[in-house]
Amino acid sequence: MRIVFVSNRLPVVIEPNEGRWSIRGASGGLVTALDPLLRGSDGIWLGWPGAVGLEPEKLESLLADFSRSQGYRIAAVPLKEKEYTQFYEGFCNQIIWPLFHDLQSLCNFEPEFWHYAQQVQQKFARAVESHGKPDDLIWVHDYQLMGLGQVLADHGLQNKLAFFLHIPFPAPDIFRKLPWRRQVLKALLRYDVIGLQTTPDLDNFLQCVQRLLPDVERQDTSRQVRLTLKGHSSVIGVFPIGIDYKEFADGAAQPTVAQKVEELRKNFAGRQIILSVDRLDYTKGVLYRLRAIALALERYPDLRRQVTFFQVIVPSRENVPQYQTLKSEIEQSVAHINGKFTEPGWIPIHHVFRNVEREELLAWYRAADVAIITSLKDGMNLVAKEYCACQINGNGVLVLSEFAGAAEQLGRWAVLINPYDTDEVAQAIKQAVMTTPAQRRPAMEKLRMNVRAENVYWWLSECLAACGISQGQPASSLAAAGVV
Ligand code: UDP
Repeated sequence: MRIVFVSNRLPVVIEPNEGRWSIRGASGGLVTALDPLLRGSDGIWLGWPGAVGLEPEKLESLLADFSRSQGYRIAAVPLKEKEYTQFYEGFCNQIIWPLFHDLQSLCNFEPEFWHYAQQVQQKFARAVESHGKPDDLIWVHDYQLMGLGQVLADHGLQNKLAFFLHIPFPAPDIFRKLPWRRQVLKALLRYDVIGLQTTPDLDNFLQCVQRLLPDVERQDTSRQVRLTLKGHSSVIGVFPIGIDYKEFADGAAQPTVAQKVEELRKNFAGRQIILSVDRLDYTKGVLYRLRAIALALERYPDLRRQVTFFQVIVPSRENVPQYQTLKSEIEQSVAHINGKFTEPGWIPIHHVFRNVEREELLAWYRAADVAIITSLKDGMNLVAKEYCACQINGNGVLVLSEFAGAAEQLGRWAVLINPYDTDEVAQAIKQAVMTTPAQRRPAMEKLRMNVRAENVYWWLSECLAACGISQGQPASSLAAAGVV
């Protein structure tokens, strides 16, 4: 079965380069896992190319060149300026993103955003129709395209329609705030297969359906739930996304990375490195973490000079005012803490605001004695998994928010925290630092085993099995991932 993979963004970066446009592939576990699958099935990836201000002919020729180099087709769904602002920046980033992360007070329920969201689903549907063939599996990704399945079904498409939600699904009391709540749920139930990240997401989804669409019939099987509305059935399951474990573990073992780790150790000799890596986003709980760091340094003076917090914030959505405010609040808080606690030869927080090079990131993951994740809510949090994969010496401690999706798989062997509980987070920092190597090793070993077994190839084959494709990945990919 050929796969038509649909996501809001194409896995490419198109940018002007010395007066010419250039194109390169975006990286990430999902892209790596999908590459062989799309290549092997003569598949196609559809999405918005992300380049504004590029003539259509130029875009097409760039994508054609890139498709040739990839071995499968990549096709653009271009968005007009107004569609970008009202649909992507508006509906997606000012309504669905905050609401689905339980932050309804940050939502801007502007009716026009919904209108543009409908328009964009139609646009994506036309692209699917023009590129798809009758037996293709249409696999749609993430919250931006929750309504696409319904449009395709309304147009009479008979293909199997699958959907995966990468972000959390909120509880009924929060989801009910959405002015278009029933439309969104009904649209989702036009997909044949719906994948969610965690069991709490599945529970929330089922409760929302029960309360808002009482006519839906429910049938539970051992691993999935079947919901039927007006004669159409959807299978809903939990498929926690993983990472390419082997790529991270092998990368962290490279001599160039080992050398960087050594330099870091020299620079921070006698101190434990406490690492955080977050995209600039209010869902990551950075200000809450900073408050807990200040409390920990105040309350446990012996931590001073003993730890260095290394905080990487990756720029994101920089033209959205809320994100600009968050950036300056973080900078103010870091300056305040450093101003208060710095001593000659010791700065408590090293703050990095940029994209870091891959080798640099791997070195930080490997060198860090503790990684701390304080998401207020997170679909999965891949950083938690990447940190474990790179802990090839097995000495690290994972401090993990119980509200990150990763907590369902990793929580048993992590120090779990409620990021809103400043006292608890300060204590957890102290506890993590005090953990002895004899306590760290068995926990990190379990964490790594889990991340290794439930990697992105495992995720892919589980999702495809739910769509009726049993040998989801060629055995060689599984072998490459270190699973078999
Ligand atoms: N990452 C990145 N650039 C960097 C540092 C990290 O792209 O400079 C990656 C990181 O390796 C991880 C991703 O960003 O794969 C963050 O994923 P996560 O699930 O933790 O959060 P999201 O940003 O998807 O909300």
